[in-house]
Amino acid sequence: NLRVGVLGVQGSVKEHMDKLKLIKGIEAVEAKNRDTILTLDALIIPGGESTAIGKILVDFGLKDAILKLNERKVPIWGTCAGMILMAKHIVNDERIHLGIMDITVRRNAYGSQIDSFKTRLMIPAVSENEIEAVFIRAPYIESVGDGVRILANYEGKIVAAQQDNLLATAFHPELTDDLSFYKYFLGL
Ligand code: GLN
Repeated sequence: NLRVGVLGVQGSVKEHMDKLKLIKGIEAVEAKNRDTILTLDALIIPGGESTAIGKILVDFGLKDAILKLNERKVPIWGTCAGMILMAKHIVNDERIHLGIMDITVRRNAYGSQIDSFKTRLMIPAVSENEIEAVFIRAPYIESVGDGVRILANYEGKIVAAQQDNLLATAFHPELTDDLSFYKYFLGL
């Protein structure tokens, strides 16, 4: 069985775990410490608050463990705050957290909490049907480096991308009934 972890620091951890439990042939693991992270075959970094999660990653030595997974080309998927944590560039924040994916993101790009919204996106690489996408105080990607594949746009902004083993979505598939992004991720 593939061991698929959800970084269990802060944010929508349980929602991702519940989705993973619906998928056959994998073991869902809530990963809260470095030893557990190092055993994973794939890792999801959930949405939440990127500043808070980023600080805990450093304070508890989890950052190094995630960087090791990335060196091993283990699939890593960041949703929302998770995407911010993976980015090499953040236009409106001095902090860079993991800095592993060659994307430039803007935090809180759609305004404040009340500007959260739901829409439907056509993402041909991931599903032949429209995918429901929930944006909560979401970031978007302003630009990508060479080697990054743009998977989805919404109103002219990039909201999903992939670079080798790394997947980033500005929205929250764990808050919908659609498992297609999970299947796409596990296919990496
Ligand atoms: N606004 C949050 C941040 O900048 C991300 C929001 C989310 O993950 N839903 O970290």
